Amino acid sequence: MRKSPRLIIAIVIALFSAVTYFTQRSTNEVTGEVQRISITPEQEIALGLQSAPEMAQQFGGAIDHAVVDDYVAAVGERVVARSAAGKSPYRYNFHLLADPETVNAFALPGGQIFITVGLLRRLSSEAQLAGVLGHEIGHVVGRHSAEHMAKAQFTQGLIGAVGVGTGDLSAQQVAAVVGQAVNMKYGRQDELESDSLGIVFMQDADYDPRGMMRLMQVLAEAGGARGQSEFFSTHPNPENRMQRLEALIALTGGGGETAEARFQENVLKYLK
Ligand SMILES: [Zn+2]
Repeated sequence: MRKSPRLIIAIVIALFSAVTYFTQRSTNEVTGEVQRISITPEQEIALGLQSAPEMAQQFGGAIDHAVVDDYVAAVGERVVARSAAGKSPYRYNFHLLADPETVNAFALPGGQIFITVGLLRRLSSEAQLAGVLGHEIGHVVGRHSAEHMAKAQFTQGLIGAVGVGTGDLSAQQVAAVVGQAVNMKYGRQDELESDSLGIVFMQDADYDPRGMMRLMQVLAEAGGARGQSEFFSTHPNPENRMQRLEALIALTGGGGETAEARFQENVLKYLK
């Protein structure tokens, strides 16, 4: 019995997707990890810049307060400038979003980083803010979105193969897969890696890494807000995560600024 040409094409596409996925390897300059990634850092930057306005719009848009906005950017830039993140090819921008209810922070590929007013006003020191931004910078440097996109492309190739085989796959379905890739939640390993990178970046930038621990407590105490938070999206057990951070800080050493007064002066004075 002859195989239909459609089935053969479907098999070829599926094989091609698998081969492409498993041969695209690159070594991460900061983490040293070998990763499967199919886009370049320049494409990551472009993708992040393109999606940034849409991302901002989902959380109340940019806040109209120059002092607080500039302060958040300055803290982020200090973390980048004094750490290995500054040696990565990415261009960092820090955006404060006006949404007062949602307690969250995000990173798009290539260096676009966001924090909501809802999270910012629950913090009490500059070190905690550096912890939020350091964790998000960790997702960028770790290229976590790009990794997910490479996986999604692999999946997409398989779906495409099914589409050719059965003859129905709409452009909307493909677009949905791409959109999902950009907004995808990170995996547990990605969160742990971002925690570790965040701690290291904080230490390099002379911030007290215990700010990250306090940040976890703040998020846990936010209770109902926990479900909304990127930080806890894939972590059913924040206590384990805090123990892990505690061990990491004990190993690498504490010290550094907490800068509560500066946080009060530049943020809480205006947002409370
Ligand atoms: Zn995260």
